[in-house]
Amino acid sequence: MGKKIKQIAIYGKGGIGKSTTTSNLSAALGEAGYRVMQFGCDPKSDSTNTLRGGTYIPTVLDTLREKTKVDAHEVVHEGFAGVYCVEAGGPAPGVGCAGRGIITAVQLFRQQRVFEELDLDIILYDVLGDVVCGGFAVPVREGIAQHVFTVSSSDFMSIYASNNLFKGISGYSKSGGALLGGVIANSINQDYSRRVVDDFVARTKTRVVEYVPRSVTVTQSELQGKTVIEAAPDSAQADVYRSLAKKIAAHEESAVPSPMDVTELREWAGEWGRRLLEIERRAGSGNAIGV
Ligand code: ADP
Ligand code: MG
Repeated sequence: MGKKIKQIAIYGKGGIGKSTTTSNLSAALGEAGYRVMQFGCDPKSDSTNTLRGGTYIPTVLDTLREKTKVDAHEVVHEGFAGVYCVEAGGPAPGVGCAGRGIITAVQLFRQQRVFEELDLDIILYDVLGDVVCGGFAVPVREGIAQHVFTVSSSDFMSIYASNNLFKGISGYSKSGGALLGGVIANSINQDYSRRVVDDFVARTKTRVVEYVPRSVTVTQSELQGKTVIEAAPDSAQADVYRSLAKKIAAHEESAVPSPMDVTELREWAGEWGRRLLEIERRAGSGNAIGV
């Protein structure tokens, strides 16, 4: 009988930086000696690319479609720093439910007791979270994950997706669903973006776990098919991901967030719109004086 495996789901809107953040987090945890699995749950199936030199791995669902009996080890591929990489895959576009795919993939691993056999410390699920579809709530709802984190920038659409996720977490919390660990603020380079995210977490009664800057080091590393931890281990960006990894490894207490309702969210956004205009106007007049 083994230790308890820490299972964490990372949500966020498409393109916000979930896979980039999760892969760097996995790499930093692997580097620190943890036994980690990254479980991609986005039908795009590219979650683990930068842990595997930019290559795609066969997905669980594709493999299950090809043969009736699958040994779970066939769909686990070791990546950088010993991180075990899995891609759940998705249904054929337009057919079926992505959530079912996640359940099927996780069941395969549970039945064959692969998580225990690999003696994992942490499993990170990388989940697309901007679709208003029950299927994607699976890791929260089915008790697959214990803690949920969301990746968000200060952009309204990404905050909107996070707020929707908070509604889901808050709803399922009554029936034993996963709770919220906090927000990983991504692409935060300016004071105002930080203030927008800070205000959002204050309003929804959660917190920011880490502020991750937008960095060309991430772009360069991605183009080499690598995480920043692998491609630029001495960079400041790598240290940001290491700091995030430490906090996630130490994280114990998650909570139920307080999502805003639609009207509140609109008003909140409108207020920030006015404040940003004011900031810009002041900066603009400052320049005019300077010229
Ligand atoms: P998601 O998994 O949420 O769909 P990705 O992780 O694939 O998003 O990121 C989308 C794009 O944004 C990628 O090209 C990635 O390199 C870039 N990106 C994400 N975070 C950062 C960052 N902090 N700095 C620079 N580029 C980033
Ligand atoms: Mg992704």
